[in-house]
Amino acid sequence: MVYPKIFLKSHREKRIFEGHLWVFSNEIGHAEGTVSAGEIVDIFSAGKMFLGRGFYNPHSLISVRILTRHDEIIDENFISKRIETAQKFRNSVVPDETFYRLIFGESDFLPGLVVDRYENCFVIQSYCLGMDILLSQIIEGLKNSFKVDSIVLKNDSSLRTLENLKEEIRVIEGNPDFPISISQKWRSEMIRFMVHPLEGQKSGFFFDQRENRERLSDDSEGKIVLDCFSYTGGFGIYAAKAGAKEVTCVDSSENACSMMKKNFELNHVQGSVIHDDVFDLLLRFQKEKRKFDIIVLDPPAFAKSKKNLFGALRKYRQLNEFALSLLTQDGVLFSCSCSHHVNRADFLKMIGEAAFRVKRTVRLIEMRGASKDHPVLPSMPETEYLKCAILRAD
Ligand code: SAH
Repeated sequence: MVYPKIFLKSHREKRIFEGHLWVFSNEIGHAEGTVSAGEIVDIFSAGKMFLGRGFYNPHSLISVRILTRHDEIIDENFISKRIETAQKFRNSVVPDETFYRLIFGESDFLPGLVVDRYENCFVIQSYCLGMDILLSQIIEGLKNSFKVDSIVLKNDSSLRTLENLKEEIRVIEGNPDFPISISQKWRSEMIRFMVHPLEGQKSGFFFDQRENRERLSDDSEGKIVLDCFSYTGGFGIYAAKAGAKEVTCVDSSENACSMMKKNFELNHVQGSVIHDDVFDLLLRFQKEKRKFDIIVLDPPAFAKSKKNLFGALRKYRQLNEFALSLLTQDGVLFSCSCSHHVNRADFLKMIGEAAFRVKRTVRLIEMRGASKDHPVLPSMPETEYLKCAILRAD
């Protein structure tokens, strides 16, 4: 099989050569013949050195996403092997689990593809044209590795517009009865959540925070805990299970709040669920002089692009100021950011500024990232996005 060839401009191969998987549009020199959007191409340096094989999309700033550095055919067999490798990795980092992120895009050398496994139900999210085209191979690949009852396509990310793709949500296999109940191992028990992949956010559940929720539970016994941006109660329920004295959760989504109430019942624990805007609520709590021993901030990505980084950091800072001012003496803040564009250093600097502005001294106890089913490629900083800073405030 011969793939069309694309040559980079001179001296643009270093990053790719060192393991990065994206070729940006301004790095491309010329193509041999005509190449259409979504096609698989071979990438060469200007000096004709083979660098890899990947998807081409001239409409995207990321013009090529590399799938392999070897001369191998991209077919169902290739995709199946990639899925098997990803599964093996999950078996080692989240052993005995049946609910986790199975494919994490570039980190699993399936760029632009995310697959979350809910036991026998699989939720696919595609972020690029090349992956959309390979959809039937992905479905077959999943069936080769698992007993598949149902597959949902959850292509509602606004990032798809960057690839000129439409949003699309549908069940593509089976007849699933949603919501489904999932369970996560916690100490010697299970914590359960109801998940609705079609109506919920992203694939229905945020697996990336699992280990940070466990970490919160280690600190929660006897504490007054506030879980901000709680979605269906991920953090709050772990805190309540661990014996928190009081748990308050807040989210602006009505759907998330009603699911959260069900999740508290399902786990036989108590928590108060507030349907409100976090910024408004924290301001009110400040006026009421409410205090909390632990506050979790897990907002959506405020920085959607590099362009609005400055504004986003200001919003994060305001949020962290509110939270720090509501913490008791020696209270603990779990401050998260899932913005790709905010790096660790900027994030910590922002927290330092927030602390300064509300006259609190904070010390970093621990800096954490996403759970192990979201592996990071050291050669590709973009695969590391979630930051969870745990700080104690004097
Ligand atoms: N902590 C959650 C995941 C948070 S996702 C977990 O562990 O599962 C971010 C959440 O923030 C979403 O549920 C969204 O509805 C909510 N959200 C976004 N903007 C908000 C705002 N201004 N006030 C309250 N909630 C908000």
